[in-house]
Amino acid sequence: MIILGPPGAGKGTQAELIAAERGIPHISTGDIFRDNIKRETPLGVQVKGILDSGGYVPDEVTNEIVADRLAQDDAKDGFLLDGYPRTLAQVKALDELLAGDGHALDAVLELQVDEQELVQRLVKRAETSGRADDTEDVIRERQEIYRRETAPLVQTYTERDLVVDVDGMGEMSAVTDRIRAALDKVAADR
Ligand code: ADP
Repeated sequence: MIILGPPGAGKGTQAELIAAERGIPHISTGDIFRDNIKRETPLGVQVKGILDSGGYVPDEVTNEIVADRLAQDDAKDGFLLDGYPRTLAQVKALDELLAGDGHALDAVLELQVDEQELVQRLVKRAETSGRADDTEDVIRERQEIYRRETAPLVQTYTERDLVVDVDGMGEMSAVTDRIRAALDKVAADR
């Protein structure tokens, strides 16, 4: 599965819970990059400036990271991707990767949250997250890049009948309940 939604939609939080419940790894490209930055690995050094400014890491770099991660043992029976794919080139790379392994996507969860609420949440998160990209300017830049580069992926996956819309507004636990119900419905329908 994939979880898709703008920065601040709550993907990371929800993905962690849902993946744990289903016994599959939660794979967040953002977490992988931040971990590498923290450990000052060559990858971390390469991508730090990009994350700080809110831009996207080049597709070739990101695709390789994901290919390596999905090749690990714990991902062989399924996974929940969070923050990937983010571009059409990444969609294509993931398609090829999965086809090569004889795997297919079951669902693309789309978390929907109003733009105004998104910025408010991120500004609030900035007070505690310590994330260099949680400043108001960078937050707006990330929303803009999301709209331009990533929002079109919803259309791509809609055409494949994979998108499961979930209202991401309100209490965290209410959102988790909605995701659970939506996934159960998909499983029952297919
Ligand atoms: P958010 O959803 O709040 O923007 P993430 O943790 O998903 O946060 O991503 C943080 C940053 O990591 C992004 O702004 C981008 O710089 C980089 N990143 C994460 N995933 C990708 C990806 N699939 N392609 C390119 N860059 C990525």
